[in-house]
Amino acid sequence: MIPRYAPSYTYSDVFRSLGKSIHNRANDDLKTHLKALYKVNHVFVLSSAKAALYALLKAYNRPGKVLMPAYNSRVVPEVVHFAGYSPAFVDIDYQTLNMSHEMLDAALGTGVTAVVIVHLFGIPCNMEDIERIRHRKDILIIEDAAPALGAEYDGRLVGSFGDAAIVSFQATKVISGETGGILLVNDDELAQKVEHVLQAADPPGSNWLIFAKAIARKTAFHPWLYPTIKIGYRSLHKEQLFEVVEPRTTIPPKFLRLCSKYSSTLISVQLDRLDWHLQRRRYLAQTYRESLSDCVPVRLPQIPSQCAPAWIQFPILVEDKESFYWYMQGLGVDLNWTFRYSCADSYRLNGFPNAQKAAKTLLGLPTYPSLTDKNARYICDAIKKYCTTRI
Ligand SMILES: *Cc1c(COP(=O)(O)O)cnc(C)c1O
Repeated sequence: MIPRYAPSYTYSDVFRSLGKSIHNRANDDLKTHLKALYKVNHVFVLSSAKAALYALLKAYNRPGKVLMPAYNSRVVPEVVHFAGYSPAFVDIDYQTLNMSHEMLDAALGTGVTAVVIVHLFGIPCNMEDIERIRHRKDILIIEDAAPALGAEYDGRLVGSFGDAAIVSFQATKVISGETGGILLVNDDELAQKVEHVLQAADPPGSNWLIFAKAIARKTAFHPWLYPTIKIGYRSLHKEQLFEVVEPRTTIPPKFLRLCSKYSSTLISVQLDRLDWHLQRRRYLAQTYRESLSDCVPVRLPQIPSQCAPAWIQFPILVEDKESFYWYMQGLGVDLNWTFRYSCADSYRLNGFPNAQKAAKTLLGLPTYPSLTDKNARYICDAIKKYCTTRI
């Protein structure tokens, strides 16, 4: 079976990082590296991108409405709520899958103190939209570049356009440190407030525990072992399809945590290969695009020419999502089911038809760099076969 994702690190990265992380200034080294990459004044290294967003909103301290796309990871509105703000949704454009600018304009009413621009699946948003809000000095522009490390718009890294940005190094992202998330901030005063908020942060998780998790994950997602893991998992938990989960309203323990030295090191050792990771992901995305452009029942997202995505997965839109998913499972391809409902659904709000439609039709093809060309071609052939039977 072809797994839906695979962590970016190699066994060698995992072991090498253990030796290095015990003594060195791992977090400072990572900060220096990322500061240079993003050409930003302040970088904070935390245990997750969620924690980074939480720290930012606490530091900003202007409770009010925070606008965000209605089709997104549900953790984003949850964090907004944890930080004492109220999430407010904007429908997406079904063609590009990112926030529609007409909708954003319409939603920019009173009481909005921040906007979260999400580069979903690593696909950059239309940055001209940011320019349209920039004159609103009373609104903080936050880029959720959690899945978009290395993605560019007009040759400039996303995450460097807004007032602040978050990037994730969780297991499914471009580069994984097993745990990890960063906050990028330019303004000195805001950065000082973040520093203050982080004084109350919990200490990082244990280096050894994260090391063990990285080994376990690397092994579980090996193509030979993965089918067994998947069968075992399925027998324990019923496969979740469209079930909507209520948003969490209370902040979980140890939510605001600093990054472990181990994860920082694991990220640093892979950053040297970032260009290779991105090239490989873009090559796989291009393979899918070229091969599937004539498959009528499968729609591909429209990517504006200014965008160079980071592709943590390659989203496709299929009318009968569930039967297509099981068809591909039958052929040994485990597709990403993300996301199975929109944020609007989890908050029981109506009026976000495109976001709801995306949740009902979107599946992600794997783009991790260790996916072989042969497997990518196999996936394309399987989809083409589905298409010929559906016309
Ligand atoms: C993964 C992801 C997050 C959360 O990142 P964590 O590091 O797991 O907290 C937030 N937003 C988007 C769009 C994501 O893809």
